[in-house]
This record gives sequence, structure tokens and C-alpha cells, in this order.
Amino acid sequence: MCHRGCARVSIPPGDFPGFVPTFQIDKYLYDMRLSEETLQEVSQRFGKEMEKGLGADTNPTASVKMLPTFVRSTPDGTEDGDFLALDLGGTNFRVLRVKVSDNGLQKVEMENQIYAIPEELMRGSGVQLFDHIAECLANFLDKLNIKDKKLPLGFTFSFPCHQTKLDESILVTWTKGFKCSSVEGKDVVSMLRKSIKKRGDFDIDIVAVVNDTVGTMMTCGYDDHNCEVGLIVGTGTNACYMEEMRHIDLVEGDEGRMCINMEWGAFGDDGVLKDIRTDALAELGVCPASSILHPASSILHPASSILHPAPSILHPASSILHPPSSILHPPSSILHPPSSILRPASSILRPTSSILRPASSILHPAPCTLHPPSCTLHPAPCILHSASSILHPASSILHPALSILHPAPCTLHPPSCTLHPLSSILHPASSILYPAPCILHPPFCIPHPPSSHRAAVSGTFARRLHKTVRKLLPDCEIRFVRSEDGSGKGAAMVTAVAYRLAAQHKARQKILEALKLSHEQLLEVKQRMRIEMEKGLGKETHAEAAVKMLPTYVCSTPDGTEKGDFLALDLGGTNFRVLLVRVRNGMRRGVEMHNKIYSIPVEIMQGTGEELFDHIVHCISDFLEYMGMKGVSLPLGFTFSFPCQQTSLDEGILLKWTKGFKATGCEGEDVVNLLKEAIHRREEFDLDVVAVVNDTVGTMMTCGYEDPYCEVGLIVGTGSNACYMEEMRNVELVEGEEGRMCINMEWGAFGDNGCLDDIRTEFDLAVDELSLNPGKQRFEKMISGMYLGEIVRNILIDFTKRGLLFRGRISERLKTRGIFETKFLSQIESDCLALLQVRSILQHLGLESTCDDSIIVKEVCAVVARRAAQLCGAGMAAVVDKIRENRGLDFLKVTVGVDGTLYKLHPHFSTVMHETVKQLSPKCEVTFLQSEDGSGKGAALITAVACRIREVPSISGGEQ
Ligand code: ADP
Repeated sequence: MCHRGCARVSIPPGDFPGFVPTFQIDKYLYDMRLSEETLQEVSQRFGKEMEKGLGADTNPTASVKMLPTFVRSTPDGTEDGDFLALDLGGTNFRVLRVKVSDNGLQKVEMENQIYAIPEELMRGSGVQLFDHIAECLANFLDKLNIKDKKLPLGFTFSFPCHQTKLDESILVTWTKGFKCSSVEGKDVVSMLRKSIKKRGDFDIDIVAVVNDTVGTMMTCGYDDHNCEVGLIVGTGTNACYMEEMRHIDLVEGDEGRMCINMEWGAFGDDGVLKDIRTDALAELGVCPASSILHPASSILHPASSILHPAPSILHPASSILHPPSSILHPPSSILHPPSSILRPASSILRPTSSILRPASSILHPAPCTLHPPSCTLHPAPCILHSASSILHPASSILHPALSILHPAPCTLHPPSCTLHPLSSILHPASSILYPAPCILHPPFCIPHPPSSHRAAVSGTFARRLHKTVRKLLPDCEIRFVRSEDGSGKGAAMVTAVAYRLAAQHKARQKILEALKLSHEQLLEVKQRMRIEMEKGLGKETHAEAAVKMLPTYVCSTPDGTEKGDFLALDLGGTNFRVLLVRVRNGMRRGVEMHNKIYSIPVEIMQGTGEELFDHIVHCISDFLEYMGMKGVSLPLGFTFSFPCQQTSLDEGILLKWTKGFKATGCEGEDVVNLLKEAIHRREEFDLDVVAVVNDTVGTMMTCGYEDPYCEVGLIVGTGSNACYMEEMRNVELVEGEEGRMCINMEWGAFGDNGCLDDIRTEFDLAVDELSLNPGKQRFEKMISGMYLGEIVRNILIDFTKRGLLFRGRISERLKTRGIFETKFLSQIESDCLALLQVRSILQHLGLESTCDDSIIVKEVCAVVARRAAQLCGAGMAAVVDKIRENRGLDFLKVTVGVDGTLYKLHPHFSTVMHETVKQLSPKCEVTFLQSEDGSGKGAALITAVACRIREVPSISGGEQ
């Protein structure tokens, strides 16, 4: 008996074909067949185990350990340099030199030397072992004459390890015959470093320590940048894949991804596969799963690997065909018996084969491609066939696990299935998905079958593997790529990637540094804003002030006693709207709004002023009719969001049309007058135009209605602006010392006099230069929605030009102005978005990216949005501190009413801004209140406040 398993199904001596115990075969094979439901179930269990392994609390009891490898990136093909690798734990101990060149051809040159590790060293002391490794390394460097180059080195150390850094790995336990003392529980990298240092004849930079699975993924990743999973099915089996950092509890940080060494061989160790372990195999101590999933035992006992059951099952059949010893014969004698032997044998074989057929039909009730008609003459294929049926459960079991690795569409593509069994045999550990070695290795007792058969068998395994994965994951496109020398080249690749990343990271950080503002810089911005505010308010300095600090003639915020029906017009936002706003006081205090949106045709926007205002009045008339209020005269507030110089609450001189408006005869005119004249021309109704306001003031008033502390308004949308209640004594442009007046800061123009030039970057300049108003609104251009996307795009172009992104390839899309809208910043920075989704946003934008590119784009978005929020916070800190100082307070409690899509929808903008205000104005407690429809409701509330103060009766006065 070549295997103890054979005893289970041995045929009583002298038994003949008629007595083949097919029922036993049937039972074995039946038990081993796994239905799709079972595989789905296994897949789900695997998923749970993976989660268990990743969770901080559950990891200690998890059987699949999901070990972080600290490998955070896969190759992108631009790696470059000269690297060393050590490969310990595979078949041989090797030292390698790997040259990777980024000349567009992705060339890899390797030289390697195998060194023996004497038996006594494998069981000696750890120090002796590492001294020996250092000596081999020295010998290798000597031979290549590179001892004086301090080359970076990657160390493939294929033993169970607990990794704490990319270059720190604690050996958990020796396997594979190694038993060196005083290494378990220690960092193998520092032991190696010590041994090298002790010698003193060379120096190297140990950058990374990896296991062979990771090496396999990295090796394949160099050729196929979509490779994000590594799988080894050799003597043992294991897998690794790129996991999102936010799922890895054991490592700090949520950004990016990290390769997880699953150590999946232990799946089932806690009994979760009990129900699918077949009786017989359980007794043998192996099962389809455990034979795959116990890497240690597989490694130590090749005989117990995937094929373990095979001989035991095949034995009966083969023992019919040949005396048992013939199983051990060289394959040629089985597969290609010399014709002289074959001919006589065939006559014997014929009856046998007829018996085999029923057996094989048990093995393969379904039609089978490998069932060659020549079976009668060549029993070997039948044997192979049978073997493949036994392999089936194994390959199927691998798949549920794989299917878990790719819950989202992924890109592990199956290769051509063209296997190269020979090299697989030479490098079994480095095979990715390469069943060939395990199928054809000695356990199967066919040591050297002709390559055509090997291909057939390995092809069968691979095909079944691929088929099962696809069945379980119909929505994924998975490609399998064969790794060549993953354990040696892989460590060098990890090192090459680490080197590339470090260099690129440094270059990018240097560029981004200019956009990162220190506390001192922000404090400086706050102080400069304060200076500009004073300039704008001062009679003498106002004319040349960049921040205009316009008086609004709004002298009071709502106190809740406002009441009545008001009309509001909102012109200058996305739409023109007419609103009816009902303000109630007393018990039913609140605001009720009705509004209708009207379009303003381009010919009217660009016609005469009379035509424009006649159209506006026509819309008001239509609205009143629609509301059943035709002919009613109501107080009206006019939100007119164009730059205006006000001389009273109900007068606004249009300084300049913007946003596509060009109606003639309006600039330099009072828009309230233009509106009143149009109302008179219509002679249909009369309206009391009480106030003309801008949207920032409207926002403050809307929030002021809810919160009496609200004395500041802020808008961060397409543009940015702020207003606040200033002491009349400081408003030098308006007479009077008493009370307060709301100042429309027009803070977007902060910096237009060059006072922010030291913090403006080349990217801000580029965005400004190509804008509609170069040199103007410089603060706004660093803060608001209209510009942030463009800043990001300019940085991405710069990175790409320097080869730090998109593999240095600038696409036409990236060169297109405006493609990167600010809403993408919000989407990309969204916390719940996985990198794959970021990538798909970029792909949607036409930007082909790797996952690493996505991380970089995300970082750029974060830096740009953070700076915007901080600058906005610095401006706001200046405002609230001024209010506090105006009032001579040690501490101020104040509320800021805020509107604008960027503020409201960006996932981090508001938080960063609030933090900044807190840091820069520690003596203020600032509450931020979001405004809803500040431009419509606000205008009505200003009108209501004005009516209250002026005691202008509204038609439905009285408590309602
Ligand atoms: P406006 O300021 O024109 O009155 P909004 O406050 O709605 O109007 O702001 C519109 C601006 O907000 C757009 O110019 C766009 O840049 C930006 N924006 C739109 N969607 C988002 C989003 N999801 N996140 C961040 N900014 C956005």
C-alpha cells in the first residue's frame, strides 16, 4: 500500500472485476460532490470567518486570521530600480537581484542563487541561521560585485508570522522542518539586520518582509494592474487580497487599502465545515476542505494534499487494471505502455474497461469532456479523469472563498488557461491557482506524465475553479493570471512598490504642502480679514478697500412678533421666483410659503430694462391670480443677488449685471425704482416695495427668525459671502451712531489687493487666470463651489505631468475645463464610499485610474476642501471676534445662519470650518444654523421686520 488511505478501499485479494465495490466508490464520490447551494453556503461561512478575522474583538477566536501585511499598494508598472530579495521558506533558500526598469516596456531582469541550508542549521540557533543568511547574501553581493551599493531588499519569509510593520514580522511558529531556537516570538527582520551589522562588510536596506502569497499577488500585479488577489494552491494553499483599510480593525487608519494575508488554510479548524467533511475522509483526517485548508499539514505532508483521497479511490479501479505495484510505475508505463505490452494487455483490458465504464459513469454522471473513447486502450486518462472528479470538491471549495473576496465587480481575469505545468512543478509555491503541481505530484503516483496529460488535468482543475467562481459570482469579471516566481520576484516587487510610493508620496506632499495652512497662517488670515473689514467700513479707506462692507439698512433681526402676508421676489439665483410668505405670531408662530418659478427668456435677460421689469411684474400678476389674490396690495421684499450699492433699505443701485443678465438701462439705476415703474405701467395692482436685500442677509434673517442669537449670515455655494450686525458707530458710510446695521461684507473680494498672495498657490493663479473675472474675488476662488473642482483638476494635471498620478498619462478629459465639478469632491470624500466607487466616479469622468490613483485624487480633494473650509473659518473668526470686541465682551455667544450647497452637502466642510472658528476665536461660542430658502423667506422676513418697525400694516394683520 502506497498510502494508508488505500487500505480503506482495498479489494480482497483474488477479487475480480465482477466484485468491484462500486458502492464504496459511489459513496465516497457522492459525499464529495458539492451542490451549488452547498458552495454558496460555504461561501457565506467563509465571508463570516473573514469578518471575524478582521474584527478586533473577534480576531482572537477566528480561525481564518486575516493578517495585515502592511502592503498598501500593488504595482502600477512605473516601478524602477535595482532590488535584492531573499526567499526563505520555499523549496530552496535563494538570494535574488531584481532589476525593474520603467522604460515603458516594464522589463524585469533577475539573477538568483540557491544556497543550501544545512540540516543542523535548520535546527540550530536562530543567530546561526541568520548569520548564515547574511553570509549567503554577502557571497551573492560579492559575486555580482555590488557589495558597496546599499540596495533595498525584500524578504520573502514564508512562515506563519504576525506582522506589525512592512519591515517587521514576528515569527509565530516554525514550520517546514525549521526549528531554530530563539526565533519564535521575535522580529525576523531585526535578527537579519543584526547578523548583517555584525559582519560589517556590507549594508542593505531591508524594506519589506512578505509571505509568498503576497509575493504572488505583487508579481502578477506588475503585469496586470488589476491584480488584487493572490492565491497559492501548491503544496499548501493560502490567499491574500487588497482589503479596504476601514474594514481592518487591527490596523489604525481608514484610508486606502492593505493586503491581507488570509491564512485561509485554517478555515474549518473551528468545525464550521464539519457538515461537509465526508465520513471516510474525516476518519483519514482529511476532507476535501481540510486537505486544502490545512497548509501546515499539506506542506509537511505532501501526501495529504488535495489529492490525498485520490489514490484511495483510484486504487480499486487501478488494481483491477494492474497489480497494485503498477500504480507506482513510471507514468509512461501506464499511459504509453510499449505496444508489445499493450497489445496483450488490451485483451485483458477490454473486459476491465467495460467494468470501468459503469464506474466512471458513477464518477461522472454528467457528460464529461475528458472521457476519451480510447479509454479502453488507455486506462490512464480514466484515472486522470477520476482524479479530476475528486479534485472537483477541492477546486469548488476554493471558489466560495474566492467569491467572497470579490463581492463587488472585480478584475481577476482568468488567463487563457494555458498552463505551464512544468514550471509549476519547478516552482510549486509560486503558482497562482496552479493546481498542476498538486495534481501531478507524487501523491498521485504519476510522477512524470506526458505534458499533454498534465495540461489536461491542470486545465480541468483550473476550468472547474474558474467555472465555479463564475457561477457563484455571475456579476464579476475575474481573470486568473499565472505568477512566475512570485516568492522571489514578489518580495522585490513589494520593495520596488514601496520605493516608488515613498518617492512619489514625498513629491506629492511637497506640492500639497503649499495648500496646507498652519494655525499661524490661519491666524494671520483672520487678522488680515479684520484689517480689510476696518478699511471697508472707514469713510476714508472705503473707496480702495477690497472688502466693501456694504451697509444694507437692515437694522434689526426678527423678534418673533412679526406677522402678516408678504410677497417676495428672488432674482439672481438659479431661478426667478415669486413667493407669498405668511408670517404668523403668537401661538401659531411660523412661516408658510407658496412660490412659483418663472423662466426669464434670454431675449428678455438681454433686452431692455423695461422689458425685463415688465416681465417680472407680469409674473407677479400671474402669481397673484394663481393664488387667488389678484389686485391685493402687499408689502414686498426683493432679493436681488447682483452687486448693489444701497443708500436705504428700499433702494439698491445696480453696479454691474452678472450671471448672463445684460438688460440695458439698468446699471447705475435703482432697481426698486425700475420695479415700481413697471408696476405703475401695468396699472393692475399696487405693491409696497419695502426692502431690497441680498441672499446673505436673507439667510441671516431666516435663521434669526428661529434663533435670536443669529446675527451673522454666511453663504458657501457657487460663490461665498457673509454679513453681520455691525455697530452703527463703526459704519462710517451711514450717519447715526445708535443701534446696529447689517453689513453685507462682499468678502469674496478679500485678497483682491494682493493681501493673500503669499498663500495663493500656482493652482489658484491658474484657476483665476482662466476665470471670467481674473484678479477679482480671490478669496471666493479659494473657497466656493464654482472653483474648488477646478483647483483639484489643476493639481491633478500637475501631478500627472510629474508622473505622480495616472501613470503620467494626461488624458484629454483631464485637460477639459469644468469636468471636475465641486459635487465630485463631496462624492469622493464621502465616508461611506469604498475606493472602488471613487475609482468608478473617476472612470465615469473619463479618467482611467488605478485604486492608488483614487487614493491620491481623494487626498487632493481633501486638501483643497479642507483649505477652503479653514479659510472660510478664518474669515468667520474675524467676524465673530469683531462682534465680541464691538460689544466689549470677554465671551460672545452667537449664531451664524448658513446657506449654500457646498456647506450643506460636502461631508467635511462644515466640521472643518467649525473647528477652525473654534480654534481661532476661543472667546466665542459659535452655533451654526442651516438656513432653508434664505433668499425667498429672508426677503419676506426683512420686509416683515421693516413693517413691524415702521408699523406698516399688512392686510391680514393681527394674530392669526
Ligand atoms: P447658489 O450659490 O448659486 O445660490 P447653491 O448654494 O445651490 O446655489 O450652490 C451651487 C453650487 O454648489 C454649485 O456651483 C456647485 O459648485 C456646488 N455644489 C453642487 N452640488 C454640490 C455637492 N454635492 N457638494 C458640494 N458642492 C456642490
